[in-house]
Amino acid sequence: MERLEKNQLHTAEITGYTAQGLGVARLGGQVVFVHGGVRGETCTVRVLKVLKNVAFARVEAVEAPAPGRQAPDCPYFPDCGGCQLRHITYEEELWAKKQQVEDALTRLGGAAVAVEEILGSREILRYRNKSQFPVGPDGRPGFYRARSHQVIPVDDCLLQTEAANAAARAVAAWAAASGAAPYDEKTGRGLLRHLYVRTSGDGAALICLVANGRALPEEEGLVRAVRAACPGAVGVVLNENTRDTNVILGERYRTLWGTDRLEDTLRGLRFTLSVPSFYQVNRPQAERLYEKALEFAALTGRELVLDLYCGIGTITLCLAERAGRVIGAEIVPEAIRDARENARRNGIGNVEFFCGDTGETAAHLAAEGLRPDVVVVDPPRKGLGEGVVETIASMGPQRVVYVSCDPATLGRDVKRFAAQGYAARRAAAVDLFPRTAHVETVVLLSKLNAKQHIEVERNLDELDLTAAESKATYDELKAYVLEKYGLKVSSLYISQVKRKCGLEVGQNYNLSKKEDAKVPQCPPEKEAAIVEALKHFGMIAE
Ligand code: SAH
Repeated sequence: MERLEKNQLHTAEITGYTAQGLGVARLGGQVVFVHGGVRGETCTVRVLKVLKNVAFARVEAVEAPAPGRQAPDCPYFPDCGGCQLRHITYEEELWAKKQQVEDALTRLGGAAVAVEEILGSREILRYRNKSQFPVGPDGRPGFYRARSHQVIPVDDCLLQTEAANAAARAVAAWAAASGAAPYDEKTGRGLLRHLYVRTSGDGAALICLVANGRALPEEEGLVRAVRAACPGAVGVVLNENTRDTNVILGERYRTLWGTDRLEDTLRGLRFTLSVPSFYQVNRPQAERLYEKALEFAALTGRELVLDLYCGIGTITLCLAERAGRVIGAEIVPEAIRDARENARRNGIGNVEFFCGDTGETAAHLAAEGLRPDVVVVDPPRKGLGEGVVETIASMGPQRVVYVSCDPATLGRDVKRFAAQGYAARRAAAVDLFPRTAHVETVVLLSKLNAKQHIEVERNLDELDLTAAESKATYDELKAYVLEKYGLKVSSLYISQVKRKCGLEVGQNYNLSKKEDAKVPQCPPEKEAAIVEALKHFGMIAE
């Protein structure tokens, strides 16, 4: 078949999904990622972009809809970047997610482990207890358009609670009346950046407005408007973020009214959380996730357990009820303060918390001679930091329970654990993020005996692990940047950014020998997107 070209129409059969929720098809040996594609459908697709190893297309017409297709139930889909899977049934979504986890563990991780089950969410609407709305140029909070930073105003998001949506509408009305200007990322001018709302299981809400400045016009009016819209409000907080960054929260807070903490109940324990502390966004599903982690940890009441990336101590305190002693470690100081308070308030004494980078804390504890029976890790999307797998292995735990929110970095780390003599034994997926492409996984790893270890190493060598390299290829980086940000980047630009980040760059991309040679320089927008891609693939730290 001739080479694919932009705008061509082809008939394609969709066989599965990418990690971002696009359909996967093959056209003449070429892999094509299809926007709006549903597994099992034969459809006419229009080619949008062609890269070396992958092309992108979108569905133009479907011959016969597959049972997995449904009419999207949200008027903002698929323009809004918040959801990726509203065009398929929830059953189909769970199939896609289970498949994604299985692929990551076997293909990237080289592990011989089946995903036992995927636990679907009972609630697939309004399940989020944390809402983060960027404020649009018209002053209305909304969500970013897919692969862009353009804000689409959204009056009612089906993933957010009624309280959060009501707060967003109240902020929009207050902004219009007070004249508070929205922040403009390009110029760095304007005040209102994000609205951040946390809600608890019993309907309490903590509302935080993130501003490019220390004070707002009409602060009392804002408090009045938000309290009138959200009867459950317990506090209104102003966060100051004056930096030119995609990170939502700045470092300074000022309470405009009420309190700056929220309380919630999880597995019968009471938790206090601050605005910046991590807390799972889907509480009932978080309970099932932690239950799975506890099952895999198989505690008898005597063990010493290390809980790395512990946040406000949610998993730590659940483990503590069934262990001898648990040590939690986490980098955000507010989270550690909350974790200590949570332990005290729940009357749990057999826990201890350390604040710091996991790599450093774990290395320090290992050097002190700590020998935990079980290690639990629950890292952010980029997975375990450099050297963390090796440090954990050096402490010789019987079992490692890995809770992951990114199957790709989980796969990479599982492979690293295999190299240290730890094999994946069990895996289960838990869906905390219905209608989006995200999924959580819990994996149990345990020590191999020496003979088995050699065998597994040999098996790993025999596998084709080209796809499993933790380093992404230029094409993978290009595909990621294109899919996520809608930007086309050249190998030259990628090499420039890699070099800036201190990464090795292949021979072909070395700088020109001629001092005065004019080389096009990567524009900042593309540089930022490439940096995000390098982070996504774990090639640089966040
Ligand atoms: N186990 C917790 C939190 C998991 S989220 C829960 O289930 O609620 C991941 C946590 O890792 C976040 O709290 C984040 O602040 C923390 N974190 C991120 N990078 C870290 C690092 N380098 N060292 C330690 N903690 C880190």
